[in-house]
Amino acid sequence: MAYEQWFAYPSYRPNQRVMLEAVERCVRKGEHAVLMVDAPTGSGKTSAISAVLAAKGARRVVIALRTTSQVEGYLSEIRRIREHTKKRPEIAYLVGKPKMCPIAGEFENPYAGCELLKILTKNALEARMRALGRERYTVEEDPVLTALLEEGRGTHRRACPYYARSKSALLRDGKVVVQPSERAMRDAARVVHSVLSPSELKKTCERTCPYEVMAVAARFSDIVVLNYHHVLDERMRDVVFRWLNLEPENTVLVLDEAHNVGDAVRSINTARIGVRAVGRALSELDVLSKGELDAAIMDDVLMTRGVLKRLTEYVEHMRERKPDDVLDPHALCDFLFAEVLERDDEHMVVRMLDLVEVIRQHKRSMMEFPEVHLARIAEFLRLCVRAKGDETCLVAKGEGDELWAGVIDPSPYLRRLVDSVSCTIMLSGTLSPIDAYELYFFGESGRAQKLVLPNSFPASNRLVLASKSATTLSSMRNDPHNISEIEEHIRGLIEGVDGNVALYFTSYGMLEQYRAFCERCASKSHKRVFIEPKETKAIPRLLSEFFECASGRGGVLLAVCGGKLSEGVDYAGRSLEGAAVIGLPLSAYTEVQRRINRYYVRRHGRQMGMLLAYTLPALNRAMQALGRVIRSENDIGVLMLCDSRFAKSGVVEYLPSWIRDEMRLVDGAECSMIAGWIGEVRA
Ligand code: SF4
Repeated sequence: MAYEQWFAYPSYRPNQRVMLEAVERCVRKGEHAVLMVDAPTGSGKTSAISAVLAAKGARRVVIALRTTSQVEGYLSEIRRIREHTKKRPEIAYLVGKPKMCPIAGEFENPYAGCELLKILTKNALEARMRALGRERYTVEEDPVLTALLEEGRGTHRRACPYYARSKSALLRDGKVVVQPSERAMRDAARVVHSVLSPSELKKTCERTCPYEVMAVAARFSDIVVLNYHHVLDERMRDVVFRWLNLEPENTVLVLDEAHNVGDAVRSINTARIGVRAVGRALSELDVLSKGELDAAIMDDVLMTRGVLKRLTEYVEHMRERKPDDVLDPHALCDFLFAEVLERDDEHMVVRMLDLVEVIRQHKRSMMEFPEVHLARIAEFLRLCVRAKGDETCLVAKGEGDELWAGVIDPSPYLRRLVDSVSCTIMLSGTLSPIDAYELYFFGESGRAQKLVLPNSFPASNRLVLASKSATTLSSMRNDPHNISEIEEHIRGLIEGVDGNVALYFTSYGMLEQYRAFCERCASKSHKRVFIEPKETKAIPRLLSEFFECASGRGGVLLAVCGGKLSEGVDYAGRSLEGAAVIGLPLSAYTEVQRRINRYYVRRHGRQMGMLLAYTLPALNRAMQALGRVIRSENDIGVLMLCDSRFAKSGVVEYLPSWIRDEMRLVDGAECSMIAGWIGEVRA
C-alpha cells in the first residue's frame, strides 16, 4: 500500500502494518469516516501519520494534542520521514506559546501578557502609519517606532518588537489592517522545511515572533498541530480553522490520546463561577457605565447588574452545600430573573453576551487586556437556562464558594466534529473496551470502525498481579484484616522490586492512610519516598530526582490515580519497574455522579450505562497508571491491581485482553514472590 513509501523505519513492529493499512483505508475513504485505534505502548502509534499522509491527497491534516509535550513525538516522526524516505511533508504547530515566545520570561502570564502587547503594538503601527500618511507600513522602515519598541525592555514594554516585525499594516477601505510582513513570510517558508522544535524555532526566527511565523506556516503546511481546545471547543474551532485556511471538509483529523476527548469536551463546556468572578464582572459594568452609553446598552447594563447582585446572594447562600450537590436550575433562574419585567431567560442571556462584546471593545480601546469576566458569568447563565430543559446539562456546587454549570454527555459535540471533517483517526493506548468508548464518544454503535491491537511487548517481561481479597471499598476501609492485606501488597512491591516503584492511590486521603506504612517499607529497602505535590510547578524537579534514584537503591513514588503523575509522563528505561493501583479508582458517589449514572442507564440500559458513566473512567485511570511501567520491549516490570474488584465480573471483562490473560490472583502473603520473579527474569 502507499504508506510503505512514507514509512520511515527499517522494519515493522508486530501488527504495525495492520494499523497502517486500516488508517490508510479510512483516510482514502473520507466521507466523514472515523477509525478508533486502541494500540498499546510499543505499537508505533505515531507512525500512523505515514498512512495519513500517503492517503490524504490534497486534503490537509490537523493533529489535536492534549498536552504540548506530545508535539516532539510528531516532529521527530516527520523528521524521520523527511530523512529516510523521498517524501518531504511540511509541519507547523500552534501549541506551547510560552516555549516559543522570546520574551515569555517577562510576563507573569505569557498568554495574557502577549495578548495585551499585541493590542498595544497594533495600535502603535496604526498610529505611526497614519502619522506618516502612508497606505502601507512596516516598522523596519521607521527608525522612530523601531527605537520605541526597545523601551521598557524586560519590565514595562509598550509594544512587542517581534510582533511588530512580523506584521505590516495597510489601509483597506479606510481601515488599517495588519497582515504578515514579508520577513515573517520568509521565516515561515524556512521553518516549515526544517521541522524545528520550539527552542530551535526561537533561535531561527531571531527578529520575528516564532508563534506568528508558525501561524503563517500553518496556512500552507500539510500538517498543523493544534491543541484540544482549538479543535474541541466549537466556537474556537471555527475561528482557528478560518484563521489557518482550513476547510473542515478537506481536513483529515487525528485525535491523539483519544481516550481523553470525552472528558475534554465536558470540561470545555463547563463554566465555573464564584463570588470573586461575579464581583469582577460587576466592576466591569461600573467602568463601562462611567462612559457615554446609548439607551439600549444602558438598559442591558442595569438588567445585568441586577442579575449579578442576585447571583452574588445566591452563591453566598449556597456556600454551605456539599461539592457536587446538584442545584435546581429552575429555582436558580427564578431567583435571578424574578425582578425582570417581561421575563425571557434566553433573551436576557443573549443581551448579556452582547454586553460582553461591548466591554471587550471598550477594553481594547483603553488598551487593556480584553479578557471579559462577564463572559464567564454569561456562559454559566446560558448553561443554567439550558439545564432547565436538557438533562445532559447540570448545575452544581463546586469547591468553596464555586458553582458550575456544564454538559455531562460529550457525544453530540463529538458527532458534530467528526461529521464536519473529511475523516477522523482516534489514537490511544487505552481505549478498552473499544465498543464502550464508541458509545461514550458518539452515543451510538457503528459510527466508527474500530481496531484493537494486542500488546506487542513480550509477556515474559511483565508480572501482572491482581488481589484476591484486598479492597478499598468504603465499607472495608477500616477493616483490620483488609488493611493488613493491602499493606502486604504494598510491602511486596516496595521490597520486592530492586528499583523505582510507584503506588497510585484512589485519593489523597487514602495516600495519607498508607503513607507511614510505605515510608517504613521504603526505609527498610533504603529507598527514598516521593509524594505527588499539589502544585504543577514542583513536578519536573520531583521527577528528575525520582529518575536519578533508579541508578541507586530506588525510589517510591506515592501518587493518586488520575493525577499529574499517572498519565502523560514517560518513565523511560529503568525509571519505573513496578506500579500498583491501590483500589478501584471510581469517582466519589456524589449527587452529580448519581445524575450522570441515571442519565447513561436510561440511554443505554443498566449494564452498559453504569459502565460508561462510572466504571470506564476508573478503568482508564488504572490502565494509564500501570501503563507507565513498560515503555519498550526490553523493559521489565510488575503491574499490580490491588483491589479484588478488578478480578470480578462487571470489571474484569472490560480490562484489556492481555491483562485478563496474564493476571495472577494473589493474596498479600503471596506478593513476596515478586522478588523471586524479578531475580528469575533478570537472570
Ligand atoms: S507576539 Fe510573539 S514575541 Fe510578542 S509576546 Fe506574543 S508570543 Fe511573544
